[in-house]
Amino acid sequence: MTGHDRGMHEWTSATEELASKVISYAKSRIHLDPVPLDRPRTLPELQSAVGETVTAEGIGGDRALRLFADVLAPACISIDHPRYFSFIPCAPTPASTLFDLVVSASSLYGGSWLEGAGAVYAENQALRWLADLAGFPPEAGGVFVQGGTLANVSALITARHSAREQLVSAGTGGEEPARWAIAAGAEAHSSITSAAAAMDVDLLAVEPDSEGRLTGAALEATLGAERRSERPRRPFAVVATAGTTNLGVVDDLAGVSRVAGREGLWVHVDGAYGAAAMAAPSARHLFAGIEQVDSFSVDPHKWLFAPFDCAALLYREPAKARSAHAQHASYLEPLQAAGDWSPSDYALHLTRRARGLPFWFSLAVHGTRAYASAIERTLEVARYAAEQVRRHPLLELVVEPQLSVVAFRRLGWSSRDYHAWSAELLESGVAFVVPTTHSREVVLRLAVVNPRSSEDDIDVVLDSLGP
Ligand SMILES: *Cc1c(COP(=O)(O)O)cnc(C)c1O
Repeated sequence: MTGHDRGMHEWTSATEELASKVISYAKSRIHLDPVPLDRPRTLPELQSAVGETVTAEGIGGDRALRLFADVLAPACISIDHPRYFSFIPCAPTPASTLFDLVVSASSLYGGSWLEGAGAVYAENQALRWLADLAGFPPEAGGVFVQGGTLANVSALITARHSAREQLVSAGTGGEEPARWAIAAGAEAHSSITSAAAAMDVDLLAVEPDSEGRLTGAALEATLGAERRSERPRRPFAVVATAGTTNLGVVDDLAGVSRVAGREGLWVHVDGAYGAAAMAAPSARHLFAGIEQVDSFSVDPHKWLFAPFDCAALLYREPAKARSAHAQHASYLEPLQAAGDWSPSDYALHLTRRARGLPFWFSLAVHGTRAYASAIERTLEVARYAAEQVRRHPLLELVVEPQLSVVAFRRLGWSSRDYHAWSAELLESGVAFVVPTTHSREVVLRLAVVNPRSSEDDIDVVLDSLGP
C-alpha cells in the first residue's frame, strides 16, 4: 500500500462496476413481480453450495454478489410475497425500500439533534402523524426503535422510573416495594414476558373476556386479588394490546384506562401489529380510549409498509422517558447541553440508524390517504377470507376477526395434518402459512398486511384445504 492508497475505501473502476451491479440488483429485486416465495435450506446444503466466503484475500465483489443472488437470497423466504400469510408479513412500498438505500448511503447518525437534526426533524413528522391518529396532545413525542420488543421494554422502563419518582415525591421515604409488577392480558405478546424478566419484575396475567379482550373489570379484579394476597406486589403499569399477534384482538382500551387512572398505573398500548389500523376508518372505533394512555407502540415494519426494522414508540409526556433513558457520560455532554430533541434519550439505546426515514419518505411521497386506503384494502381481503371460511363446509372460524388476522380450523385434521399441509405449501412455492395454537388447539391463521395479497391468493390457500 502506498502513502496515497486508501485501500478498500478508494473509489476505483472496480468499485464503479460493483456499484452498477449492486444498484441494478437492488432495483430489480424491488420491482420483481411476482417475487419468488423461496424457502430455507439446511446448513449442509448451504455449506456445500456456498462454502467459505470470508478469506484473507477476499473473494471479490462479483463472486460475493453472485453467491448472494443465486444461493443465499433464495434460501430466505420473501416476506413481501403476496401469499406469505404467516406471523406478521412485511410489504414495504418501493419508495420506502428505495429510501432505505439512501439512508445507508448518507452516513447519518440518528441519535442526536446535534449530528442528525435534519433526519430527526423528518422522523418526528412521521411520529407526529401516528400521535395524531391516536389523539395524543401536541407535546407528545417519541422515537423509532428496532422493533416492538424494544419499544415495549423502553416504555415499561419509563413507567417504572416514573413510579419510583412518584414514590420519592410522595414523601413516603421512597421505599421500594418488595416486588414491582406489570399487569397484562393473558394474550399479551411474548416480549412483555421478556421485558418483565429483564427488568426483574413480576407479571400479573389478567383473564380475558369471552372475546379474548383485556377489560377494565378484569383488570380491577386482578388488582384487587393482588392487594388481598399475602405478599402483594406493587403494580406500576398495565399493558393493553391493540391487535394481539395471534388473533388480532384489540383490548378494551377505554375500560383499561379508566381503571388504571384510578389505580395510578401507567398504561402502555402494545400496537406493534394492530395500531396501524387506527388509520383505517372502518377499524378506528376499536381504538377508542387510546387517546388517554401514557404510551403506545406501532411497528411500521408490520402494517405500515416500511422495511425492517422500524418500530415507533410514542409518549404522552416524553420528558418522563428522557428522565428514564438519557445516558450521562462526560463525552456525551455536548449533546445534552443544548436541550435539543435527541432520539437516543427516549429508549434503551444510544447509537441509532435513522430508521424512521424510509417510512417518513414513503409517507411524504404518497400522503396519508394512500396509507389509509392500503390498510383498508388489506382489511377487505381479510374480511373476504373470513367470509370464505364461513361458507366452507370443512372450515370454521376460531373467533370473529376484528382486524386482518383470520384464524380457523380445518374440521377432521390433526396437528400432523396441519403441519404436513403447511410444509407442502412452502416446499412447492405456493404459500407460507404456518399453523398456530389457540387454547391448546392447533389451528390455521392468515395475517394479511400486504396490499398486494388478493382474494385470489386467499382462494389458492383455502382451495388447497380440501373440497
Ligand atoms: C410483533 C409484535 C411485537 C414484537 O415486535 P418486534 O418488532 O418483532 O420486536 C410485540 N407485540 C406485538 C403485539 C406484536 O405483534
